[in-house]
Amino acid sequence: MQKLTIEKMKDLETKKQIFFEQYNISENDIINSISDVLRDKLDFEVKEMELPHDVDGAIIVDLNGEQTRNNKPIKRIVVNSMINKFRQRFTVAHELAHYILADNKEFLAFRDHSRNKKSSSSNSNFENEVDYMAASILMPIKAFFADIERLKNRSEVEKYLILRQKYRVELPAIIYREQEVAALNNG
Ligand SMILES: [Zn+2]
Repeated sequence: MQKLTIEKMKDLETKKQIFFEQYNISENDIINSISDVLRDKLDFEVKEMELPHDVDGAIIVDLNGEQTRNNKPIKRIVVNSMINKFRQRFTVAHELAHYILADNKEFLAFRDHSRNKKSSSSNSNFENEVDYMAASILMPIKAFFADIERLKNRSEVEKYLILRQKYRVELPAIIYREQEVAALNNG
C-alpha cells in the first residue's frame, strides 16, 4: 500500500503543478532530460561525483553566500557517479522535489542517503513525501495513467518493459507509482 494519504498525494501533485507552471517547465522536457531542465529553467548546476557509498545525492542552495568561481551563486545538485543511471535520475528528481517543497528557496541543503537499506525511519515521513513528488516529476500522473490504461491488456512483463523504457526509472519505482496512481484514481 502507499505510504501517504490520498489528501497528501493530491496536495503534492498540486504543488508540483503550480511550480511547473510558475517556471514554465514541461513534463515532456523533464522526461527527456531532467538535468537540462534544471540547468536551463532553474539555473542549477548538476554534477555527477564520487560520493560516499551510502549517499545517493545532495542539493545545496545558497544564493546570498560566497559565489562560485564563475561568479554565480551556489545552486547545485550532485549525484553519486557510482549508482546506475536510472537511480541517478530518480535522485536528481528527489533533489528537485526538495527544492519545490522548500519554503526558503534561497538557502537549503539536503544530503540523501540510499534508502534501500530500510534503516532510519525518523525523517522518513518527510522523505516519503519528497520521494512521492520525485515519482510524480518523472512519471506525470496523466501520462502515466494513460499508459497504464493503454497497456492493460499486455502481459505484466511487457507492460513494465515499455514503462521502464519510457520513464527510465527502476522497476520498483514504476510498480510503486502504479499503486499510487490507482489509489488516487479510486479516492
Ligand atoms: Zn531527501
